[in-house]
Amino acid sequence: MPRQYPLHLVRNIGIMAHIDAGKTTTTERILFFSGKIRKIGETHEGTAVMDSMVQEQERGITIGSAATTVSWKDQYTNNDYRINIIDTPGHVDFTAEVERSLRVLDGAVAVFCAKGGVEPQSETVWRQASNYGVPRIAFVNKMDVPGANFYNVVNMMKERLNANALPVQLPIGKSETFKGIIDVIEKKAYVWKDSTGLNYEETAIPADMEGEVEKAHQDVVDFIADFCADDEDIINQYFEEGDLSVETIKTNLRKAVCQNKVNPVFCGTAYKNKGVQLLLNAICQYLPSPLDVDAMVGFDPDDEEKEIATKTDDDAPFAALCFKIVADPFVGKLSYLRVYSGTLKVGTTVYNSSRGKRERIAKILQMHSDQRAEIEETYAGEIVAVVGLKESRTGDTLCNEKHALVLESMTFPEPVIKIAIEPKTKAGEEKMMAALLKMADEDPTFKTYHDAETGQTIIAGMGELHLEIIVDRLLREFKVEANVGKPQVSYRETITRSATSDMKYARQSGGKGQYGHVIMTIEPLEAGSGFVFEDKTRDNDVPKEYLPAIKAGIEEASKSGAMSGFQTIDFKATVTGGSWHPVDSSEMAFKIAGSMAFKEAEAKASPVLLEPMMKVEVMVPDDYVGDVMGNISARRGNLTGVENVNGTQVVRAFVPLAEMFGYATDLRSKTQGRGNFTMQFSHFAQVNEALSKKLLNK
Ligand code: GDP
Repeated sequence: MPRQYPLHLVRNIGIMAHIDAGKTTTTERILFFSGKIRKIGETHEGTAVMDSMVQEQERGITIGSAATTVSWKDQYTNNDYRINIIDTPGHVDFTAEVERSLRVLDGAVAVFCAKGGVEPQSETVWRQASNYGVPRIAFVNKMDVPGANFYNVVNMMKERLNANALPVQLPIGKSETFKGIIDVIEKKAYVWKDSTGLNYEETAIPADMEGEVEKAHQDVVDFIADFCADDEDIINQYFEEGDLSVETIKTNLRKAVCQNKVNPVFCGTAYKNKGVQLLLNAICQYLPSPLDVDAMVGFDPDDEEKEIATKTDDDAPFAALCFKIVADPFVGKLSYLRVYSGTLKVGTTVYNSSRGKRERIAKILQMHSDQRAEIEETYAGEIVAVVGLKESRTGDTLCNEKHALVLESMTFPEPVIKIAIEPKTKAGEEKMMAALLKMADEDPTFKTYHDAETGQTIIAGMGELHLEIIVDRLLREFKVEANVGKPQVSYRETITRSATSDMKYARQSGGKGQYGHVIMTIEPLEAGSGFVFEDKTRDNDVPKEYLPAIKAGIEEASKSGAMSGFQTIDFKATVTGGSWHPVDSSEMAFKIAGSMAFKEAEAKASPVLLEPMMKVEVMVPDDYVGDVMGNISARRGNLTGVENVNGTQVVRAFVPLAEMFGYATDLRSKTQGRGNFTMQFSHFAQVNEALSKKLLNK
């Protein structure tokens, strides 16, 4: 079967928002309008009808679904579009997941609250999207609430986000009088026929808004003329008529959005159903198709330095990124894929280049809001879920084995916090292990393992909240009640000077002996560099075939450092010499020698303790700023600034994770429940000797 939707009519989008701005409601309404009411103008009178329809639809939707596919007929071009909505996790705790979702989408709708505007947390989300160069349009939601102020949000976008916010719609009325929207480009006004918000009709632009509309239209025209400064025809028209055709504006506005030069601003109220159809049109008209964005680049599995670009073309070799794995009650494991190039057919075998394994595609599913459809094949630019993958995990690349490439490097931040966990009943044990392993499968920043020393099961992740959510899911999704211990910090250590060692591992017992001899220098590296290995042996003092074993020995030994027993990071190990024996030398012997040499050198290299530092933002009313700052200092935090954002004080600081336990409760009681905070792992910081002893004794 050929593809149903030509590539240029496909949109892969995310809906991003600060908590409470209306991301869920907007998504629901998009699903509702695109599912049930295809033609504007059909009449469904009465709120009750709407409510029951929404509820009916909602039952079938999993808003938590990693991706949902809808269709929409854009009123301007009259084309049928396919829109894949990709869930973007709201919590900064799950950095890897947030970043991956930003990678697989081509554009986004940023939802802002018409009253709150750009809140501190929306800045974080926006900045992340900017880092990934994601083209964005903005939707000013909640135009119906008291205090709604469209222009205020536009200005905040400019000031706080450095966005090139360009209003292309204007609200007619606001708060309880919000009754319509003006399209600034076409200079058309639309008002809703009744309070359901389901149907709207075109009317004349209100007389008292004519000047405002002219000005907004001129701003758009000026922007387009500036953007098209190299196009003689457009510039001539601009100077002769002072205006541009709707077609010229729309075509070039789309280009400017795709190049991240502008963020058109739309408005409405999702809750009251108003403005959502026009927003859907805008998604089709202005956000990029997979053809409009740069091709995804990966690298050769055998050579990380060699880049390989994908091609957004159904006939190119197959390549896809697995961006989410979900344990599904019906089919087992659902793996969500973004296809970057080629075609994928059901029943075929693909190559997981991240793990060097072959996988069979048992089913391909298109996830709609209310049902899932089995399909035979899927194409470049699409988002689908597949069933049948056994070994593949989040972040893995699936491709054609003959044209192998890896799309994502496999480095995820190592967990910084761990908790012992046990099921409340003996019977829950097996269920709990299975559930934890499933969740670790879905989330590469979450780990679970058995601690041989204490006999406990450990869960480890990126923050207290991260693990709280895991425990909560255990109960709600997997029906396992569990007790957890006290959270513990995962420290690291590093070295502060160079040192050398010379270690020989030799055993002679009866027949074949063991012989490995390694001379090594280790030296400190900059924070974040990880482990670097170099071979500077000469004249075959150590045969090359034993070097990987030496490296493996160092890696293993570095997992429990000489000073704290925690992992040693950010160092370089250079093997400068050694010796070998033609009969007794083996990989095992050199691995042990490498491990011994590292231990010896590290102990001499003045190791120090490193502790995870969290980037913390606390939002509080004025009265509490002093208390909050004092409390952060008492927790060994470094304050980096206080800022008044929108009437709320935002206190920013770096605070050791070890000092952040119980902060939520503390903040709540100190601020009568009016304080709020976010935190995410930032970096590792060196700890002085006295404090190291105290921390390690805890
Ligand atoms: P999310 O946290 O961003 O997903 O926000 P939700 O969609 O859950 O919305 C947060 C709250 O705001 C909910 O109580 C919604 O009913 C309400 N809400 C969302 N959109 C609107 C709107 O346009 N107008 C009004 N009055 N309330 C809204």
